[in-house]
Amino acid sequence: MGNMFCKMVTPVRLLKRFDGHECQSGYTRHITVVDYKGFENVVSVQFCYCESEPETLLRLNLWTCSPKKPKLAVSIDLLKYFRALCLEKHLSTEGFCHALENRILRVPGYTAGVKSLSRVLLQEVVEAYRHHVYKLQHLHGLVSSDDIDTGTLCPACEGNPEGMRTYCLDANFGLVRRILSGSKSCDPHHKQSFFLNQNEVDSFVDTYDENKYGSASKNCNDFQAGSIIRSKSKSSKLAIKGVFGVCCKHEFPTMFFDLKHGERLAYAVLAIEKLLERNENKIRVFYDIACKLKGHLQVRKNFAILNKITFAVPVFHSYGHIFSCQKQFNPRFLDGVWTYGW
Ligand SMILES: [Zn+2]
Ligand SMILES: [Zn+2]
Ligand SMILES: [Zn+2]
Repeated sequence: MGNMFCKMVTPVRLLKRFDGHECQSGYTRHITVVDYKGFENVVSVQFCYCESEPETLLRLNLWTCSPKKPKLAVSIDLLKYFRALCLEKHLSTEGFCHALENRILRVPGYTAGVKSLSRVLLQEVVEAYRHHVYKLQHLHGLVSSDDIDTGTLCPACEGNPEGMRTYCLDANFGLVRRILSGSKSCDPHHKQSFFLNQNEVDSFVDTYDENKYGSASKNCNDFQAGSIIRSKSKSSKLAIKGVFGVCCKHEFPTMFFDLKHGERLAYAVLAIEKLLERNENKIRVFYDIACKLKGHLQVRKNFAILNKITFAVPVFHSYGHIFSCQKQFNPRFLDGVWTYGW
């Protein structure tokens, strides 16, 4: 039986630049490509020294998985599909990889060479691709950013500079980074358009003694902040315990920074000070514990903030507060505030 069948060797496809570029420095190398359906194929790619290997792969509609000497590349169509799912349904990279693997590993006779798709589609690979799309959409590097919409400012808020701005603040304790995960080696793609300088945040929070001024509005229930929900042993393994975020009433992201402690009023105070630096007009701020925050600012006599901000508690949270607090902060009882679905 052993001599009756011989293994059929599939010829390796050769991929060349479509523009017909020919030069003396050409060479070929085998690359494993994850195609549009998630299957792996080994192909031979013709490169040359006129441009980098990732650039040649990009011409072939492939996205490199490493910046130097790539051995793996992913179909850009697959990344486009993932990007659409991510934007529409907030699908995680891991979830997408598991779904794909589940499907392709059921195909009879197919065995993946790469152990796990999620190892191919590393978060950095996806992030780099998404930033590449952002740069294409916003003509990054071609036009100075003052002349164009960089996509980092809310067009509705910017289109009405005289109007009252409304923002919502909150902390998300699900977005953590473990100490073991190390730290990021590169700067954020969007510099400080969204994330504040973390050193500035840390020094503000470390020097802001909120206990010294007592916490006002003790009548309202304390909400369980992330540090309380999480066990102490788990919390001690986290370098970043959450992310504090601000968005405008059009749900456009405005500002973020990492949390290295549980929920502290200092974070909200910092976010509001930054909002006031950017806005000359009065602004409205929705915050789950706006009652506590306002009381704290009154004790601290921080009129720079109190004179410019109208505080409200998002309507969903509002009903968890005592009635006297609801009368003061429920957006349905505040003149001209409305709820915006918060
Ligand atoms: Zn060349
Ligand atoms: Zn807006
Ligand atoms: Zn309250």
